[in-house]
Amino acid sequence: MAQTKLDALAVGAHPDDVELGCGGTLALLAEAGRRVGIVHLTRGEAGTRGTVEGRRREAERAAAALGAVELELLDCGDGGLRTGPAEEDALIALLRRLRPELVLAPPPVDRHPDHGRACRLVEDACFYAGLARRGEGEPHRPAAVWSYMGHDSFEPDLVVDVSAVWEAKIAALDAYESQLHQPGAEPAGPPTKVATPEYRLAMEGRARHFGLLVGAARGEPFASRLPLVVRDPLALLPGGVK
Ligand SMILES: [Zn+2]
Repeated sequence: MAQTKLDALAVGAHPDDVELGCGGTLALLAEAGRRVGIVHLTRGEAGTRGTVEGRRREAERAAAALGAVELELLDCGDGGLRTGPAEEDALIALLRRLRPELVLAPPPVDRHPDHGRACRLVEDACFYAGLARRGEGEPHRPAAVWSYMGHDSFEPDLVVDVSAVWEAKIAALDAYESQLHQPGAEPAGPPTKVATPEYRLAMEGRARHFGLLVGAARGEPFASRLPLVVRDPLALLPGGVK
């Protein structure tokens, strides 16, 4: 039987959330030989641009660009994301099958209400997946859940240096032809904030900003509800020019 256990699983409300928020971190882990996966909680059916089928193909190309070995799309309802027992059960089943140690989740509060709902769903499912008497399958509780950044900024608890894999992140974003601005291409549909050239510039600027804070060319910020453990304090020192 093929190995399914993952080191890290990134979960997003909509196809492209994960790639924007933590695509570099996934690529970095994958390049180091770690097994990473992606779950989109909805199929993006309420999006202004693109089709469900087209967005799935885009998601597949993006996952391949980042080196993800698992890609799943659930049906929690785009635009009013549901967080009831059925959605919890679907995510619990995935967590028990893929058994990730680290889960990367949307932020608890963000401009799109689906993102906050998705965060709550992910955090709850990660806990419930460890309960022996909840549902079917072998219990599994991830060791940590961190939130990546969406539209709104927050004060991060850690920044991952993604300078070395930035091109993989860009390749993943380029896969979302229907959603994100593609340099040199005609607009793919009605205007949306995420599809503007400014959005991609802001994403690059954010990576440079948080990178600068830790002495890296580009960084991806994360928040952790719990304190982070350190076993080698020297490994946490910033890089770059002091
Ligand atoms: Zn989203």
